[in-house]
Amino acid sequence: MAVRTTSWAFFGMLFAMAAAAAERPAPPAAAVSAADSFPVVTDVRLGGDESQTRFVMDLSRKIDLRAFTLADPYRVVLDIPQVVFQLAPKTGEAGRGLIKAFRFGLVMQGGSRMVFDLARPARIEKAFVVDAADGVPARLVLDLLPTDRESFLRKTAAETSRADLPRAKGAEADSGDPRPLVVLDPGHGGIDTGTKGPGGVEEKDIVLDFAQRLRDRVQKAGKYRVLMTRTDDTFVPLADRVRIARDAGAALFVSIHADSLPHGEGDAQGASVYTLSETATDSEAARLAEKENRADVIAGVDLKSEPDDVAGILLDLAERETKSLSIQFAHRLVGDMRSATRLHKTPLKSAGFRVLRAPDVPSVLVELGYVSNRQDLQSLLSDGWRNRTADSMAQAIDSYFAAHMAGAHAGAN
Ligand SMILES: [Zn+2]
Repeated sequence: MAVRTTSWAFFGMLFAMAAAAAERPAPPAAAVSAADSFPVVTDVRLGGDESQTRFVMDLSRKIDLRAFTLADPYRVVLDIPQVVFQLAPKTGEAGRGLIKAFRFGLVMQGGSRMVFDLARPARIEKAFVVDAADGVPARLVLDLLPTDRESFLRKTAAETSRADLPRAKGAEADSGDPRPLVVLDPGHGGIDTGTKGPGGVEEKDIVLDFAQRLRDRVQKAGKYRVLMTRTDDTFVPLADRVRIARDAGAALFVSIHADSLPHGEGDAQGASVYTLSETATDSEAARLAEKENRADVIAGVDLKSEPDDVAGILLDLAERETKSLSIQFAHRLVGDMRSATRLHKTPLKSAGFRVLRAPDVPSVLVELGYVSNRQDLQSLLSDGWRNRTADSMAQAIDSYFAAHMAGAHAGAN
């Protein structure tokens, strides 16, 4: 079909564009804003009904696109070069016809993405971009027609023979640096905002800032190396976060998130620390894991193409030790964080988080608090609270290594 270039050629083009952008000489003193260098999306519209749905997007200039479908849940994904979305805050929350809702944002440097949730199976009838002419902006047009599940699956399988996003680079695999490596994993990013609080507060921003503060503290004494799974507003698939930690030989993996309860489902507050288990400790933990695991669905990653490289390894001895170390570290975290912040009434829980599935890296997921709770939100947005809580977590990391690396250090001396 004409709408699809091969994915690697497409990403090659994106990288070439990103590289070209990077090589450009620095702009003069009056800084050139992102809006000047990237195409700008100024408006989107939905038309039609369940028998035919059209999506139209106005752009400052023509771009290339790649359109494909994903199943379970039914989605249409549009991969485009990096653009600036100048759209109203609630854009995409309401759908029309075959489109239930849609999201958009950066998925990597040089690449933006739109993900459409479908009300039922649909096929891409047309996807194209018309150049600007006679004062009318450039327009991207996506036409969808209903189809049945079987045809949808057949088409999807043909379109997505490989994973959609480029693989994470295995960073610093063999640096020769003997210091333990701590991988900090700020949740979400880019197209995946994470949970949203009042006034446009987004989880992805809170946790990135927090992780950077924690990184500075863990690095300060020079005893540990720190690697972040993301350092900017970019989406990273869950499996890549695990892969980054494993490839880099991490000694500890700390994923950082903030939670929220849906309106009308009561109030909860305080920080929680989660470890991996097949069976969730309670229904709230199960709900949370399901929500955090949706990150890939939200960003348009095809879960079927993600190799489950740790499947069936649960009874492995290495994993049993990893699990035990994860729980010991979780206990230390809760102990030290207690002095800095309010904890949830049951602060230690476990559930099936995809991001905690490295069989050989002790891993925990920290929910810093609830953006749905007024007091927690105030804390989460406060410099003082972030610094204090990051201090307490750095302290827990240090005491964890002091207890578990003692033998290794003695051997090295
Ligand atoms: Zn999260």
